[in-house]
Amino acid sequence: MTSCEIINYDRVAKSLVEFRRSSMLLIIRVLGWFIILTLYWAMDWLNFLQALKTALLGSLSILALSAWTLRDGREGRVGRSLNLLVVFLFLAISGFHSFLRDVFGVAQDDLIVVEALFNTNPGETTEFIIQNFWPLGKHLLVAILFAVFYWFLMGWRPALFRRSSRTVHVNESGSGRFIRIPAVIFTGLLVLAHLNPTMRKENPLLYFPIRHAKWERYVENTRALQEKISAAVTKDSSLATMRYTGSGSRTVVFLIGESVTLLNLSMYGYSRETTPELESLGPRLLKFTDVITTLGSTVGDIRLMIGPATRERPDLYAVKPDILTMASNAGYKTFWITNHSTDMAGALSIIADHADVTINVNRGGSRGEGSHDEVILPEFGKALDDPEPRKFIILHLLQAHPAFYFRYPESFARYNNGDDEVARALRADGRSLRARKMRNYYDNAMLYSDHILKATIDLCEARTDQSIAWLYAPDHGEDVAHYSNFVGHNNRVPAMFEIPLLFWRSDQFSLQLENAQNMEDRPYQTDLVDHTLLGLMGIEGDYYDPSHNILSPDFEPSPRFIGEKPYP
Ligand SMILES: [Zn+2]
Repeated sequence: MTSCEIINYDRVAKSLVEFRRSSMLLIIRVLGWFIILTLYWAMDWLNFLQALKTALLGSLSILALSAWTLRDGREGRVGRSLNLLVVFLFLAISGFHSFLRDVFGVAQDDLIVVEALFNTNPGETTEFIIQNFWPLGKHLLVAILFAVFYWFLMGWRPALFRRSSRTVHVNESGSGRFIRIPAVIFTGLLVLAHLNPTMRKENPLLYFPIRHAKWERYVENTRALQEKISAAVTKDSSLATMRYTGSGSRTVVFLIGESVTLLNLSMYGYSRETTPELESLGPRLLKFTDVITTLGSTVGDIRLMIGPATRERPDLYAVKPDILTMASNAGYKTFWITNHSTDMAGALSIIADHADVTINVNRGGSRGEGSHDEVILPEFGKALDDPEPRKFIILHLLQAHPAFYFRYPESFARYNNGDDEVARALRADGRSLRARKMRNYYDNAMLYSDHILKATIDLCEARTDQSIAWLYAPDHGEDVAHYSNFVGHNNRVPAMFEIPLLFWRSDQFSLQLENAQNMEDRPYQTDLVDHTLLGLMGIEGDYYDPSHNILSPDFEPSPRFIGEKPYP
């Protein structure tokens, strides 16, 4: 091709060349951005949805901005800097998300993160940065490296492009116009994308304002609800009827677990030996075999477990006293010891605050959910040693809170590379590698939970002078690739609701039990577990019905439902 021929091109042809050149640049930029997000996803630093939304919103932003700043496929220094800035803002937020997922195993909109961001002071922020200096640095460095990669891409001219570039260059410059129509279209699309709230949230400039507004609303709602509940409870005439009818001193311990389905416990027949320590207790530990939870959500289920609210009347939690309030009124000293740091300011804080002593033992930095459940043991020991004659202690454990692989120390990672019956069955059923890995992590978490539960019983047993009752139930179960590749909360499957319920008591704790074998098969739903706890505490009155107490000789099965469907 020579310059003489080119001069004969008409303006349309010239525009086409410019258009092709600009399009090529746009495609390179968007491809580059998608490659970056794919890498984030491949490293498991962003989940798929997060990576996809960031990829889409970032692409639209790049397209809209580049379409305005590119002229004939060239771009001035200001234009390039603006592009780099936009990409870096997106990278900074992605890096922050990756850091949260990598270090704490929490999602970016997890309440804990929002609380950590806004319910803090400069001292805590500094402490947080110092404690997490290396992981923060790592993700910042990765973001910078990606920015450099992108900057190179912006200056890259593939061979095909160089030809057309030279052509037009010979033809002294082209028309010098922006690619106006695409610029308007992309800008319009970007504005439209912001109409979608979940997309809007991914805009780095709106990231903090949106979350801050949400946090403020949340705090306001919690406060209003707290006031409503305490106003209702002070007026409640039935509360005064709840009296301690027993004699002597006693301690009742209730352990609320997290995301534990009985399908993965060897004491309930799972082929991996995930509960060796609890099994060593033999018949001293009662294990109920036919227990379901109600809603499949942490806050929802705990509200039903911890007071008069039931599946049919879930709203009662806001107008009736919970068992902590009842126990206090009946002369118990009450404790809420939690490894869920969200219990201190989240929806459950309304219940936790009703305890005489509320302790958060989570030490994942000054925040985060990094602490393994063993941090609960020293505080539990101290509570047991409290000289009050009557104590009611609630322990709220993390157990298998996502992400599973953050829930146990390395020494409990027994199933990571297992080629056992479970691994073979999952492979035979065609489960994905990720699903199989998640199952392994989950089983490691079960093995560790077994160790922690047994350790709490050991602490009780060591107090030989006390009469102690110990009851364990998780808030709900979990789907861990039991039916498909899905792993997580899944309200369509039984694994989400079928849970273990365990009971142990010290030799001094006097309790008449029926033939244990028959009793362990009693059908039960945990929205009624408050009656079992009141029974153990020896508290009777309007809110206690022995027919709902699974340990009582007067127990009678109640109809059970999951959602609207009768169970089983
Ligand atoms: Zn839960």
